[in-house]
Amino acid sequence: MQAFTYNALPGRVVFGSGTLSQAAAEVQALGCRRALILSTHQQRDTAQDLKARMGSAAAGLFSGAVMHTPVAITEQALAASRDCGADCVVSLGGGSTIGLGKAIALRTGLAQIVIPTTYAGSEATPILGETRDGLKTTQRSADILPEVILYDVDLTLSLPPALSVTSGMNAIAHAVEALYTADANPVISLMAEDGIRALAGALPAIVTDPRNVEARSDALYGAWLCGVCLGNAGMALHHKLCHILGGSFDLPHSETHTVLLPHVAAYNAGAAPEAMRRAARALGAGNAAEGLARLASSLGAPTSLRQIGMPQEGLDRAAELATQSPYWNPRKVERAQIRALLQNAWDGRTPAPL
Ligand code: NAD
Repeated sequence: MQAFTYNALPGRVVFGSGTLSQAAAEVQALGCRRALILSTHQQRDTAQDLKARMGSAAAGLFSGAVMHTPVAITEQALAASRDCGADCVVSLGGGSTIGLGKAIALRTGLAQIVIPTTYAGSEATPILGETRDGLKTTQRSADILPEVILYDVDLTLSLPPALSVTSGMNAIAHAVEALYTADANPVISLMAEDGIRALAGALPAIVTDPRNVEARSDALYGAWLCGVCLGNAGMALHHKLCHILGGSFDLPHSETHTVLLPHVAAYNAGAAPEAMRRAARALGAGNAAEGLARLASSLGAPTSLRQIGMPQEGLDRAAELATQSPYWNPRKVERAQIRALLQNAWDGRTPAPL
């Protein structure tokens, strides 16, 4: 057994079907009385419904959350929080809404209850990515980690199949990287393998029948495990590239993860053989990069950066940004190889070790 360090993160998790009805009780259990509910515009109706159910425990609703947590939107939400005298936030939605709740908590110290409706995993991490002037910066702090996660499988039944697939691949990316980051450890590796296995098994069933509650439960459970992996073991090259393409080129988050993951797995394969063996085993594949590419394409996910709006002329700048202040990665991050990786991903070619 290799030496390792494991930092368990605090947090209460409530998982099940119909758990939304427990939101008001969770607010009270935190010693709070006036929650500001957060959502995107698209999920405003669900958030309104939650507000009605929570009665006097809900003081207000802000439905302006958007992707990549722009600071200007956070300022609007902070004003809404002050206006209604909020003493906690309840974030109902995917990573965008949860990111907004984290940004508020970081600035105010308000407690957070998060009700995730995608598989992005932000709910389980002390990480916040914010965008200012077209640049996404990421920070970690204990103040960012939500106090309570309320998983209600029912809320995920409406997640469109295409987004379910890319969001699930986003979660799998957390687990794959957790297997080889500098902070990898045996406990998190167990979670990573099981998270990949749960999602890889559930996603095909969800595409066939998006209202398959059993498959939705497995996927949400897998998403939690993968989120814990991200929160505990951190990130490497794959997440760095996704942050650059999302923050500086405004590419859609989960689709970007989906396209890049097999390419980064191929790039890192030689430097992290044990991690790749475990990822492949969880995918039921002989090779992790191939297994990831096959899973995504068999579920109809995008397979090229070109398809998801990346301008080819931006690849040079993206490669430059990736090598400026790289995250730790098992294989050295070199500009020429990263440029080639991005070109392969842009063209939608077979992932290659380069
Ligand atoms: P999202 O939150 O942007 O959601 C995408 C769209 O789907 C939104 O319109 C949303 O309202 C809608 N939606 C969500 N759940 C739905 C449901 N069940 N039914 C119908 N519609 C639904 O997407 P995301 O991929 O979850 O989050 C992406 C953002 O999260 C990015 O900004 C990313 O950087 C961030 N993120 C952060 C972390 C972290 O640890 N800090 C981890 C993962 C993702």
